[in-house]
Amino acid sequence: MRRKNVGYKLINVLPAGRAYFFEVNEMYNPKSLKAEEFIDHEEILETLKFADKNKENYELIDSLIEKAKLRKGLTHREASVLLACEDNERISRIYDLAEQIKKDLYGNRIVMFAPLYLSNYCVNGCVYCPYHMKNKTIPRKKLTQEEVKKEVIALQDMGHKRLAIEAGEDPINNPIEYILECIDTIYSIKHKNGAIRRVNVNIAATTVENYKKLKEAGIGTYILFQETYHKESYLKLHPTGPKHDYSYHTEAMDRAMEGGIDDVGLGVLFGLELYRYEFAGLLMHAEHLEAVHGVGPHTISVPRVKKADDIDPSSFDNGISDDIFAKLCALIRISVPYTGMIISTRESQELREKVIRLGVSQISGASRTSVGGYCDNERPHDTEQFDVSDQRTLDEVVNWLMTAGYIPSFCTACYREGRTGDRFMSLCKSGQILNCCHPNALMTLKEYLIDYATENTKKIGNALIEKELEKIPNEKVKEIARHNLKEIENGNRDFRF
Ligand code: SAM
Repeated sequence: MRRKNVGYKLINVLPAGRAYFFEVNEMYNPKSLKAEEFIDHEEILETLKFADKNKENYELIDSLIEKAKLRKGLTHREASVLLACEDNERISRIYDLAEQIKKDLYGNRIVMFAPLYLSNYCVNGCVYCPYHMKNKTIPRKKLTQEEVKKEVIALQDMGHKRLAIEAGEDPINNPIEYILECIDTIYSIKHKNGAIRRVNVNIAATTVENYKKLKEAGIGTYILFQETYHKESYLKLHPTGPKHDYSYHTEAMDRAMEGGIDDVGLGVLFGLELYRYEFAGLLMHAEHLEAVHGVGPHTISVPRVKKADDIDPSSFDNGISDDIFAKLCALIRISVPYTGMIISTRESQELREKVIRLGVSQISGASRTSVGGYCDNERPHDTEQFDVSDQRTLDEVVNWLMTAGYIPSFCTACYREGRTGDRFMSLCKSGQILNCCHPNALMTLKEYLIDYATENTKKIGNALIEKELEKIPNEKVKEIARHNLKEIENGNRDFRF
């Protein structure tokens, strides 16, 4: 049934004083707590229609690019027009702007993390994931606390300080108590100079009560990928199990926020549905969080479906090219400038290089997506969730980033200093990042260089730190950072602003 349109909303005022208006749907309400109202299907369809109609409206497109330069973001409708634009000169202007915004707001720091797979037991039927319940060929494995410890020591010995824990959904095998016990184990391990200082959690949608428990356990970001915002497809792609419930899944971030977790990470699994639909849905989700909770998503992840045990990505019709992938990253960067963007080792070195420039702020390194995979010398494939494209060691990734002029950051200071949610956003918006994140990145890189790096990486890194120290604007902060770097050389650890 078509719903009636109830009004007009100003989308953008053009320099000549003319304005564009578009219709809004009665049911579309970013403030609603109902999934189907804040991710309103009709609103997405009309957004796509509006974008198609205006994809050669260069006056509007130019004004949207100008608007994005204000670094206040773009609405889903505005950004969708830019996504539809096929004019190469304008796309290259969008890329330039994304690059500039990335530089201005995130500098040249790239935050490093690794996933840690705890268990691949799962009761869901997700058709793109090899952990689906009907897969009888994949060995099922769940780490004991002793095994968690071994994995964490292996990750610490590489130099990781930040993990994202991953688990299938299985109330019997992976209840919340198990996840909490693992988090406790991870934080408790003190091995040489190693420490995991931030545990992000990527587990299935759960209750407010469980989110409260995760918050109390000291997690960083709660990450949950929507997979697809298209309800009809969602139901087909998740035919069985608790994840089949579209509303429960889509409303999870609101429950997480209610439970006190104010850093949440969104994501879409690109390849499942039309990317233009997903992009509009993703931005609507971000607008919803901002409208209801006063703070947008902390991060957005951009995974694409990959080959895995019994999964063939070519069986999905909506795979996207590397060029479209890059365009999506650039547009996310200019549409939600203050939301971090994450790219995993699902993608190749070349593509990672390209999208880091266009806006990605966090990457995983040396990842293994199998349960217990870090303890083996050889990369094990038997319990893997998906094939990893970038298979380099952490030292190789760190070396590569620095050679390209980036600072690999192992910083975890913000959430440990209580700078989460809107407090983190205000730090970004106040421009204090160069006096805070920048020295923190340099100090954690120094720890990495001393404790874990190869000689060549150390040499490149020490020169980089010297050069980058000069960028700290506040003289007092610079002096403290210098002092702390000396202290790190003397064996002390864990300094932060
Ligand atoms: N079970 C949790 C859930 O339901 O969200 C945890 C997440 S799962 C371990 C991590 C993510 O991997 C999924 O949300 C999905 O987007 C992604 N994933 C699953 N199968 C994949 C595949 N074949 N290729 C790439 N990513 C995949």
